[in-house]
Amino acid sequence: MSAEFTPDREIDAARREEDVGESTLRPQTLHDFTGQKASRENLSIFIKAAKQRGDALDHVLLHGPPGLGKTTLAQIVARELGVGFRATSGPVIQRAGDLAAILTNLQPRDVLFIDEIHRLQPAIEEILYPAMEDFQLDLIIGEGPAARSVRIDLPPFTLVAATTRAGLLATPLRDRFGIPLRLVFYTPEELCKIVARGAEKLDFALTLGGAMEIARRSRGTPRIAGRLLRRVRDFASVTVPAGVPVEAEVADAALKRLEVDALGLDAMDRRYLRRIAEYHHGGPVGVETLAAALAESRDTLEDVIEPYLIQEGLVLRTTRGRVLGERGWRHLGLTPPASATG
Ligand code: ADP
Repeated sequence: MSAEFTPDREIDAARREEDVGESTLRPQTLHDFTGQKASRENLSIFIKAAKQRGDALDHVLLHGPPGLGKTTLAQIVARELGVGFRATSGPVIQRAGDLAAILTNLQPRDVLFIDEIHRLQPAIEEILYPAMEDFQLDLIIGEGPAARSVRIDLPPFTLVAATTRAGLLATPLRDRFGIPLRLVFYTPEELCKIVARGAEKLDFALTLGGAMEIARRSRGTPRIAGRLLRRVRDFASVTVPAGVPVEAEVADAALKRLEVDALGLDAMDRRYLRRIAEYHHGGPVGVETLAAALAESRDTLEDVIEPYLIQEGLVLRTTRGRVLGERGWRHLGLTPPASATG
């Protein structure tokens, strides 16, 4: 995750220590994977075709905000193909040798998952091109006059790469993915299904109304839904007698305590919206200015905070900067100026 670890944000979609345990909630097959219908259907067809031919699946690029299921889908692809799965990430691969070691250890048709591929160093990216295209590795061995280049044949493999920002990828890299898939925010109904299934796995009695309350306030993101589900369970375990199913009212009370509002926004989201309203008269204001004022990195704003606010029409991204949308004004309980309602 390029997003920074922000301990006080309950609905931050970035991965955290406590999320390590979330793997118990992870769907294991494409069939069990809720939502992302278009991506799921595409993957299912391409996986079947690759299996029929006995070939490695074409390279897959998954892009979309954090917490939407990119890692989960990559694991499912390997499982459905019946091949090995190896995971690494862009910032972890520091030297050409690191990548060479991973690639030469793959078995034929294995899936190599590279998270945060947009953070790969350019020199390493160059090594990846022939590896992806021709399953060949060109390495320089030695230094100075003694240096020589060697070519190593690789087993055919599938690169599944994930990024929160497809726009940051160099075109030659992007073009080498035969299967680019964009993940989108989940609907409340899809999240409700995910929450209900999660509750069942956790042995936590939650009514459908309770599940929907959590779903509606999860910013369209399964990772957040899973986290809020665990928080509601904690809250219920001290406020609701054992064995009594948890209703929407209890979920609502728990989420209110966490300062997650009716739209699923938390204190940080509201601080972001209020900053544009109160200090910039609704904008436009540059993202760097906002990042500095809120003491967040620009990456965190762009990857974690803004996508959902933009999708919900609370904020608009314009060429001159961020502008508060009519819904944004109303959500803060303020009257939008005429310019925001036109
Ligand atoms: P990303 O790699 O996009 O940041 P992950 O694949 O790590 O996201 O997903 C975050 C968590 O959300 C997973 O551990 C999993 O429990 C849950 N999750 C993601 N997508 C789904 C889904 N479609 N159905 C159920 N749970 C999901």
